[in-house]
Amino acid sequence: MADTALPTYDDVIAAASRIAGHARHTPVMTSRILDEEFGAQVFFKCENLQRMGAFKFRGAFNALSKFTPAQRQAGVIAFSSGNHAQGIALSARMLGIPATILMPQDAPASKIDATRGYGAEVVIFDRFKDDREKLCRALAEQRGMTLIPPYDHADVLAGQGTAAKELFEEAGPLDAFFVPLGGGGLLSGSALATRALSPACKLYGVEPEAGNDGQQSFRTGSIVHIDTPKTIADGAQTQHLGNITFPIIRRDVDDVLTATDAELVEGMRFMASRMKLLVEPTGCLGLAAARRMKADLRGKRVGVLLSGGNVDLARFCSLLAA
Ligand SMILES: *Cc1c(COP(=O)(O)O)cnc(C)c1O
Repeated sequence: MADTALPTYDDVIAAASRIAGHARHTPVMTSRILDEEFGAQVFFKCENLQRMGAFKFRGAFNALSKFTPAQRQAGVIAFSSGNHAQGIALSARMLGIPATILMPQDAPASKIDATRGYGAEVVIFDRFKDDREKLCRALAEQRGMTLIPPYDHADVLAGQGTAAKELFEEAGPLDAFFVPLGGGGLLSGSALATRALSPACKLYGVEPEAGNDGQQSFRTGSIVHIDTPKTIADGAQTQHLGNITFPIIRRDVDDVLTATDAELVEGMRFMASRMKLLVEPTGCLGLAAARRMKADLRGKRVGVLLSGGNVDLARFCSLLAA
């Protein structure tokens, strides 16, 4: 795809005005203890406090807001391990659009329940056997519904970019910014905002070490496909970057880093005990990578995106106890 066909920062600005008054303007928080540990100023963008508990509400609401009357009537269909499902389900309910969501049978119970609670029809599939995209496309065709994918969609990624836009507008330009990476909707949208508002900022995507397809793709220059990785970061268990997200990431991101499950658990512990914030494993990817790099961050202004907070309390406790 030619670069000119890719979404731009103007699309992020348009998304920001569409979601205004519907999405929460989440807080930017700091920690004196962490600043001392890093010898730096660290700004956390708290999307764990976003509506339905993750940034995905932004992209979902933006995409659904652009539906024509005919699309609104026929409804939306989506596939997701959880947060995109909830984002679509809640946005659909707010906009009066019927929603069908395909979810893996091993998705956290809280995410399945919340999606049903928002009034969506949930169809369960086996994430290690079924081709969810194929299944979803077949259902979409059968029911005449519009498919909104979790990351590889211009309106979705433009919506996700509004969180970074808010961070830079509130915290000012940064030296480094760490963003969780699954399929790249959040990272590519954040990249558009970063290059517009803080062009010199080093921008890092961070994915689970068990599934570093994004890192391989970024470094080799073509999209690498992997099997569904086994990691506690269920929001980033993606198998490949997208055809729209990858060229933006390749152009605008400085590097893709990884974090281990043990580092994510340490991040969850720090967030809960020191900052009183409940963050899901995937949401701690940025903090984990920043910690690994902290020697290089001394004296700098650092942004960390906390992408979500949806984790069963029982699971949260067992992860911390292990
Ligand atoms: C979806 C998700 C991600 C990854 O976002 P992509 O747009 O797929 O890269 C990161 N963190 C959380 C909490 C998520 O729900």
